[in-house]
Amino acid sequence: MAIVQSFGAAETVTGSCHLLQLQNGINLLIDCGMFQGSVEAHNRKPFGFDPSEIDFLLITHAHLDHIGRIPKLVKEGFSGTIITHNSTMDLAEVVLMDSAKLQEESYKTAYKKAQRIGEEKSVPKPLYEKDDVRLVYQLPVREARYDETLSLGHGISVTFKNAGHILDSAIIRITFEEDGVSKSVVFSGDLGNNNDLVMPSPDILEEADALFIESTYGDRNHKGVEESDEELEAIIKETINNEGNVLIPSFAIERTQEILCLLKQMYDRGDLPVCKIYLDSPMAIRATEIYKAYHEELSECCNAFLERDGTIFGFPYLNYTLHVHESMKINEEESRCIIIAGAGMCNGGRILQHFKHRLWNEKNALVFVGYQVEGTLGRKIVDGERKIRVYNEDIIIKAAVHTINGFSAHADQSDLIEWMQSFKRLGKIFLIHGERDKQEIFQKEIRKQMDKKAHIVKYAETIGV
Ligand code: ZN
Repeated sequence: MAIVQSFGAAETVTGSCHLLQLQNGINLLIDCGMFQGSVEAHNRKPFGFDPSEIDFLLITHAHLDHIGRIPKLVKEGFSGTIITHNSTMDLAEVVLMDSAKLQEESYKTAYKKAQRIGEEKSVPKPLYEKDDVRLVYQLPVREARYDETLSLGHGISVTFKNAGHILDSAIIRITFEEDGVSKSVVFSGDLGNNNDLVMPSPDILEEADALFIESTYGDRNHKGVEESDEELEAIIKETINNEGNVLIPSFAIERTQEILCLLKQMYDRGDLPVCKIYLDSPMAIRATEIYKAYHEELSECCNAFLERDGTIFGFPYLNYTLHVHESMKINEEESRCIIIAGAGMCNGGRILQHFKHRLWNEKNALVFVGYQVEGTLGRKIVDGERKIRVYNEDIIIKAAVHTINGFSAHADQSDLIEWMQSFKRLGKIFLIHGERDKQEIFQKEIRKQMDKKAHIVKYAETIGV
């Protein structure tokens, strides 16, 4: 019997890494992501399998929690074939290079500090460096395209379907023969919702003998996206018309592009007050370029923009500030600016510079449009802290702080159930990529609405499929 083991995203949302071992000795790994937040220490532990024995690495999408340990996998012996979309490899390069850079920088800082007390040998080396990322790009890559079935030999084939989560994110179906019987296992990857401005809705699948489904928001339904759009519009109008500025900490991939589309729609309708909008994040600017390059995979709305304007995200008020000197010039603007900058959870990046210049002023507004993980500066502010420390300086927050929860790139409980109900034949259900308490709520709801059992996958548990 084929076996699946999860070495990440088991009873937690990060570190996605699932191993499918087939009877004929072929091993497929689905994602190899980084653990983040309170489980970060897991990244340094051994994988739980021998990377040199993996034949194929299938990547669902380019978020760090799905790709962040690939350089480590290669360092430790993986030399098989990567199968994914070309755009995912492009986005992954931006994400992994940024991750390597941050690791190298924090290692250098920690090393210098430790040197002063003679403990530099105890400072852990980065998980990987930029050179390790380059090695990933020397491996053979087989391009996946939606709906095309790739044969891997040995009676194995894989099909990538649109997951609607970020650019070219995939649901992956793997079919193989076992004792003369054809079987299919589906990994949902991260599933998007049906109301995304930038991404088309997730594809419907016909059948699966086993489904490994994400359960990030298995416990709840989101506030409507429309409501969130209106909320953002109201904040922008009020702040800009009051000669203030709006700061939006944003994730580089997907959320930024969605916010840009929203602002462009507002501009089109004549609802956006005259202002200057700055996309002040090199990583988000690069990601936006990659989105443009693969525009065929984006929503109808994006392609309509492209046809009409010759650009998807651009419009007269928008400025890209790639270089540091351009970013610093924003500080000279007194009012009527919307500044979108990273990091999304404010634990670094250019947003901190803008915090220093703008948060003490009550005319300004700070708008959170993404989930803030516990322990981050963003979360502290969302939870009510109004005195923060940035670059060793205390700052009192007098700007209005808003949190808009409806912009999620993930399906919510009813989206997930509806998606599963659309299968014509669905075998066993396994829950991955979710926190345990939320998975339990989801499990009950699946039983109630679908009259089916769902199993919550534990780390490294052996599951026959
Ligand atoms: Zn994701």
